Amino acid sequence: MSYVIDPPHMPTLPVRGTRDLFPIHRIYCVGRNYADHAREMGHDPDRDPPFFFQKNPDTIVLSGGNFPYPDKSQDVHFELELVVALTKGGKDISIDDAMDCVFGYAVGLDMTRRDLQGEAKKMGRPWEVGKAFEYSAPCSEIVPARDIGHPTDARIWLEVNGKLRQDGNINQLIWNIPETISYLSGLFTLAPGDLIYSGTPAGVGAINRGDELIGQVDGVGEISITVS
Ligand code: MN
Repeated sequence: MSYVIDPPHMPTLPVRGTRDLFPIHRIYCVGRNYADHAREMGHDPDRDPPFFFQKNPDTIVLSGGNFPYPDKSQDVHFELELVVALTKGGKDISIDDAMDCVFGYAVGLDMTRRDLQGEAKKMGRPWEVGKAFEYSAPCSEIVPARDIGHPTDARIWLEVNGKLRQDGNINQLIWNIPETISYLSGLFTLAPGDLIYSGTPAGVGAINRGDELIGQVDGVGEISITVS
């Protein structure tokens, strides 16, 4: 037996301090998970249940590379996020068991064609065209939790061309990491290799060709990309 076409390439991220690769199964993203970002998007941040969307694993771009400005948009935004990498999955995972599923963390950008997303919202259509386009998920290498533990209080900040644009703390997450994993596992069967982009703090904004973006979650890692 053989494949009728070449099998798709497996997207991966490097694991810091090793020569190992983390294979990516799915990419889940949490919407509006910081109160000040929910407000800037025109929503009232209450504790409504979290909501999710997905990006395709092959939209990953490794930090340090170029982010090609995508077609069909005049308003592409950055959203800096703490990313959780799962080593174990399951269904209906309890909050108490959720952290056993975490392999490590990374720093990612949920790049967004805001104009197309806005149109989709208005028309009651799915978000894929705004969220799941090529190169839409830049990400740093993954840092194992065995090296840094499980961060719950860390500054998350992003500079564009040296100017501070996003500045929050992961302790402001409306749904924290174990709550997010637990809730998500009620909707989907989670698996080893899943990434969860956990949401962005306030300050999101538009990018232009030539911009240099540097984002960090202190104690976790750094991501940098150039818009090409
Ligand atoms: Mn986001």
